[in-house]
Amino acid sequence: MEQDLEKLRSSAAEDIAAVSDSRQLEAFRIAYLGRNGRLSALMKQLGTVAQEDRPRLGKLANTVRSELEKLFSDKIVSLAGQAVRAERPDLSLPGRRTVNGRVHPVTQVMEEICSVFAHMGFSIAEGPDIELDYYNFEALNIPAHHPARDMHDTFYIGESTLLRTHTSPMQARVMEKQQPPLRVIAPGKVYRCDSDITHTPMFQQVEGMLVDKHISFADLKGVLTVSLQKIFEKELAVRFRPSFFPFTEPSAEVDIECVICGSEGCRVCKRTGWIEILGSGMIDPEVFKMVDYDPEVYSGFAFGMGVERITMLKYGIDDLRLFYENDLRFLSQF
Ligand SMILES: [Zn+2]
Repeated sequence: MEQDLEKLRSSAAEDIAAVSDSRQLEAFRIAYLGRNGRLSALMKQLGTVAQEDRPRLGKLANTVRSELEKLFSDKIVSLAGQAVRAERPDLSLPGRRTVNGRVHPVTQVMEEICSVFAHMGFSIAEGPDIELDYYNFEALNIPAHHPARDMHDTFYIGESTLLRTHTSPMQARVMEKQQPPLRVIAPGKVYRCDSDITHTPMFQQVEGMLVDKHISFADLKGVLTVSLQKIFEKELAVRFRPSFFPFTEPSAEVDIECVICGSEGCRVCKRTGWIEILGSGMIDPEVFKMVDYDPEVYSGFAFGMGVERITMLKYGIDDLRLFYENDLRFLSQF
């Protein structure tokens, strides 16, 4: 019997080491300490051993029992500890870095442009993205069937509503409500049904106008030259080329010296050394008549520029679509 108790002791020590969950632990308890377990079976044999060996073997059996109970209770504690460790965060792991957001490059340049004009006394007006046909076209001297409507590839929403194709509708909206003198810029999103390497269906424009008595083309040239030099932070050469817009007369496209090659001639400026940057002109008297301004008393100029184009030139970016792909490797450079 003494040998049997020793065997029980060593096999219990082996078995408990292999226990890894509470189900296995319960099986261990039943096998060794249960009413019909291995220890009980040995205790029952005590009655059959010789009288003189009984106290010694009885004591040994009790020692083995308390050892088994200790193995069992120690295992409960260690399993519980494992469970807690499994839930507790591992403080030795390196921390996760917080990624800071940045202002989108196009938004940054939009804000810079607004700030340049704000310093020249222009106020900012914002209008609806969904515009009435009247403000987008009619009030700007582009009646129905006017060929200039084709240039705009308009997204129509209803019979008389559309996604504005330029920010120019703000000209009429502002002039309807205010009397000259006026100095206003209108920044915002515009929409055209057009998509390729240099066009996206949505892009951003800044429109501006100045109306007062005795405003001449010289004022237009002065204001635009200074503001373009401020926007590009450089004493750029600027030139004005005759052009046509239905709502200005005379009209001019404005070019700046190529900021990529410094007028040497490159792919971006098509070897000319000049880059077209905005459209402008003296506000057509027909536009003034629609808002009841007297064209004999007041004159003014208007201009519009694409913000993505200016951002591309400022930062030397050659694909417009990069702005709208939300690639953090690109965006985090600004
Ligand atoms: Zn160039």
